[in-house]
Amino acid sequence: MAAHDPVEQKYVYDFAEGNKDLKDLLGGKGANLAEMTNLGLPVPPGFTITTEACKAYLTTGREPDGLAGQIEAHLESLEREMGRRLGDPDDPLLVSVRSGAKFSMPGMMETVLNVGLNDRSVIGLSAQAGQNDRFAWDSYRRLIQMFGKTVCEVPGEEFEHALDEIKRAKGTHDDLDLDADDLRGLVDAYKKIFAKHTGREFPQEPREQLDLAIRAVFDSWNAERAILYRRQERIPADLGTAVNVVAMVFGNLGPDSGTGVAFTRDPGSGAQGIYGDYLANAQGEDVVAGIRNTVPLQELEQLDKTSYDQLLDIMARLEEHYKDLCDIEFTIERGKLWMLQTRVGKRTAAAAFVIAGQLVDEGLIDLDEALHRVNGAQLAQLMFPRFQLDHEFEAVAKGIGASPGAASGKVVFTSARAVELAAEGEPVILVRRETNPDDLNGMIAAKGILTSRGGKTSHAAVVARGMGKTCVSGADELDVNVPAKKFTVGDHVVNEGDVVSIDGTTGKVYLGEVPVMPSEVVQYFEGELDPENTDDALVRSVHRIMTHADAARRLRVRTNADTGADAARARRFGAEGIGLCRTEHMFLGDRRELVERLILASGERERENALAALLPLQRADFIEIFREMDGLPVTVRLIDPPLHEFLPPLEQLAVNVAVAQERGEDVAKEEALLAAVRRMHEENPMLGLRGVRLGLVIPGLFAMQVRAIAEAAVAVVRDGGKACPEIMVPLVGAVQELETVRAEAERIIAEVVGDSGVEVLIGTMIEVPRAALTAGQIAEAAEFFSFGTNDLTQMGWGFSRDDVEGAFFWRYLELGIFGISPFESIDTDGVGRLVRIAAEEGRAARPGLKLGVCGEHGGDPDSVHFFHEVGLDYVSCSPFRVPVARLEAGRASITTTGSDSR
Ligand code: ADP
Ligand code: MG
Ligand code: MG
Repeated sequence: MAAHDPVEQKYVYDFAEGNKDLKDLLGGKGANLAEMTNLGLPVPPGFTITTEACKAYLTTGREPDGLAGQIEAHLESLEREMGRRLGDPDDPLLVSVRSGAKFSMPGMMETVLNVGLNDRSVIGLSAQAGQNDRFAWDSYRRLIQMFGKTVCEVPGEEFEHALDEIKRAKGTHDDLDLDADDLRGLVDAYKKIFAKHTGREFPQEPREQLDLAIRAVFDSWNAERAILYRRQERIPADLGTAVNVVAMVFGNLGPDSGTGVAFTRDPGSGAQGIYGDYLANAQGEDVVAGIRNTVPLQELEQLDKTSYDQLLDIMARLEEHYKDLCDIEFTIERGKLWMLQTRVGKRTAAAAFVIAGQLVDEGLIDLDEALHRVNGAQLAQLMFPRFQLDHEFEAVAKGIGASPGAASGKVVFTSARAVELAAEGEPVILVRRETNPDDLNGMIAAKGILTSRGGKTSHAAVVARGMGKTCVSGADELDVNVPAKKFTVGDHVVNEGDVVSIDGTTGKVYLGEVPVMPSEVVQYFEGELDPENTDDALVRSVHRIMTHADAARRLRVRTNADTGADAARARRFGAEGIGLCRTEHMFLGDRRELVERLILASGERERENALAALLPLQRADFIEIFREMDGLPVTVRLIDPPLHEFLPPLEQLAVNVAVAQERGEDVAKEEALLAAVRRMHEENPMLGLRGVRLGLVIPGLFAMQVRAIAEAAVAVVRDGGKACPEIMVPLVGAVQELETVRAEAERIIAEVVGDSGVEVLIGTMIEVPRAALTAGQIAEAAEFFSFGTNDLTQMGWGFSRDDVEGAFFWRYLELGIFGISPFESIDTDGVGRLVRIAAEEGRAARPGLKLGVCGEHGGDPDSVHFFHEVGLDYVSCSPFRVPVARLEAGRASITTTGSDSR
């Protein structure tokens, strides 16, 4: 005791002292046990040791001062309340010691039941239970088993083995057939196992059992699998766990006792009703461990109607109170119901939407709260096609859903084979133990990627997400043998060429080709499903929540679209304009020849001819897009990539020239191209002659594009349509660059537009760090900014995306240098700061400056919240991400007091 410290920190809370909002301090389990206690529900008495105590223990390696005394005091009051004492040989108090962190980490940490039993009190326990020896010895053997396993790291199989042994000797599979003598024998066997592995006897002193168990729960926070899980789920490493000490109630006292788990609604579909499992004459962990077959909770009504009715009543009260789906754990001791846990239950993406809608209907929450309860990641999941699973298909393995989607294909084990088969038009699934940068081509060629090792941040996972490709990682039941070109899973052997199907959302792996069905949510966005007139609860709910998000959001959502077809789809998905129309694709296909002519032009005349030939083609492209967008703003980016990207690769040209020469053909043109490619070669094309630099170096190129845009707009308007073009200059780093382009563009626009009433804005991308830092100057020459956060990230970090994602990002994620790839979610501290500076200084120089973002971050949920907060006018993203951005922009606009959705 620290006498000099009169105000000792409070490390222990009685259940009556806590509540559900104290999760940081009491962990989720403790906070909710307290909440239920204060609701007057039947919770066995107990207390919670705080996460603060755990953190102190983990940093100093010993229990903090004062903790022992506080535990003592709370234990005494628990003993008084129960009328029993821990370790009393005649009538012992038993407790459970249960971990419980702020975020639930299923199966990651440990619980020990029946703490307080020893060789003497086991007799007293039996006597108190009406000479129920079977019960007492069953409880004791469970204590040694759980204590051995979780506190002293005795291998669990050894206990299970001994139990199997006794059952076999008895000729049964059911542990209920074991009688008191069998279980007493089992206790002896368990003690021997314990002594063999720990070098000491099983501790008989109850208080020592308790202290060791508490310490083991503290330690479990840093167990390897807990660390892995946290990294996976992005749970901070420094939260610590609380420890709950709870008076035991017994589900293993006979057939009128039992234990169960339940959900207040179906966590899979969201359907209303009661979903749960019950197991008679058992202790809690049996239900989850699948030791015996449970019965559906509904059958409890026949077994014990009073408890069943009471349970239903409590579940209704919990839903009413938490205003959400709850999951619960309970035990019935001789007809008396006890609540052992509740929490807001995890659910699938579909259930999240359906339940949020139902709760609005039931008047429990409003639409703001419903919007808060769902998220863009869930919506994105629902927009992938799904496997149509009937009874025929059963997963053979389950890994981590690392990159969503549903993919089927022939199994291949090497990158080279993937490329080969894909070239023949075969869908392939690349299967590896883990992938590395050498697998990149195979990953590009494959429909999906399946690995037996690695988590959500492994090489396979990071690269697949970057490519938008389906990936299941860490399916550790798979034994992958690359040299033998096969993998085994359970009894199955899968050879190269066999077909498998992988679900990148659930992480499940199936043998054979599972049929795929379209997403009904996409059908709804496409206008193929009428939300007012469907019995599909998911579609109805998505519609309702999206409508609310649209009404709530301040950010506008545009799309990136280069063609009329993309533009049309994006409008159906709710896009309010085009934020990025790239023009480079307009130079591909059979237009390449014109680009070659432009590049090879030997004089002004030839160059002008080439450009003149391109002009009508570009104009036609723009007319189609402007028509499709019908008066919504369309930001057209002038040509951005280095021109040599439009020429054939060097090696190919060299071969062509050689072959043609061999044949004695005329190679003049090929040779000229080859020379051009050699001349234009760049060491770092990303930092070379591209963007605005092209416009300043190649006379007439930007002028042709500007003219095509202006003429297209005039043509559409003359036709009675509307067009709002915005011309965007890429890669500007200095205002002088923009001013030069602008002067020429303004002249052309004035000439083309005449009195047609067409208005054309001129602005720039902010994607070079210098542009962000001199935004005040650049704004003088720009009517809008559009942040190109992909290039800004590349140049801000000095990363070449194509090189770094495959090469070392997995290592950076593993080391925690970043929690998520800065290409997936904007790095708010660094790159985001550039955005913030540019937004502020740009607006200060030119009030009303239009601000947007184009690029993948525009459709990333976390990034959307950041762009909202920085005050941008719109985000622009690929058509499929438009609904996600709408939803998240809505969520960013509402403030609710609602619960943490994790
Ligand atoms: P987890 O976090 O893994 O669910 P718990 O701490 O909830 O672990 O414990 C697992 C199970 O043990 C509970 O569902 C419950 O059935 C049983 N259990 C825990 N504490 C008690 C207790 N005091 N009395 C009876 N059973 C208990
Ligand atoms: Mg539990
Ligand atoms: Mg760019």
